[in-house]
Amino acid sequence: MKMRVQLVIEDGSGASTCADIAAIERHTDDLIGLSLEEAKAMTGAVQRKMVEVQARETIDRGLIFPACQQRLRRNGKHRVGYRTPFGRLELDSPRFYRCQCQTHTRQSISPLAIWLGGHISPELPTLSATDVRSRALERRNECGAKRIMGNGRRNRASHGGA
Ligand SMILES: [Zn+2]
Repeated sequence: MKMRVQLVIEDGSGASTCADIAAIERHTDDLIGLSLEEAKAMTGAVQRKMVEVQARETIDRGLIFPACQQRLRRNGKHRVGYRTPFGRLELDSPRFYRCQCQTHTRQSISPLAIWLGGHISPELPTLSATDVRSRALERRNECGAKRIMGNGRRNRASHGGA
């Protein structure tokens, strides 16, 4: 049996496009349901597509200068990175010349770089801190378990040590 997972994206005008997220093949004697690897890959693919769509909208909006509604002239592009809990993303970030009604110097702006801010998801530092705390807790529990097991061994062997 073949299964396809797709993401349907509906824009402001109500028009929708479809993006392929995953293709999975299963037979009755295979693993039941999703594997952890497939779940991670799917979440990563949804994240990538979502950010790409949001980025495109941000660039389209940044292309028009709000004060005079003029379309800005393009001045090349560069790649920007963004770290998320589902992996690091690389995005094309076009630069635009500032409108001449604002400045006569050839300054350029990058709407995507402004939108991405610190280039890291605000959830990531919180997650990392939680991760560190839960790892410390795990270590403490492991030590406790070892102590209990150690006592058991000592009792059975009826001598100290370790
Ligand atoms: Zn202008």
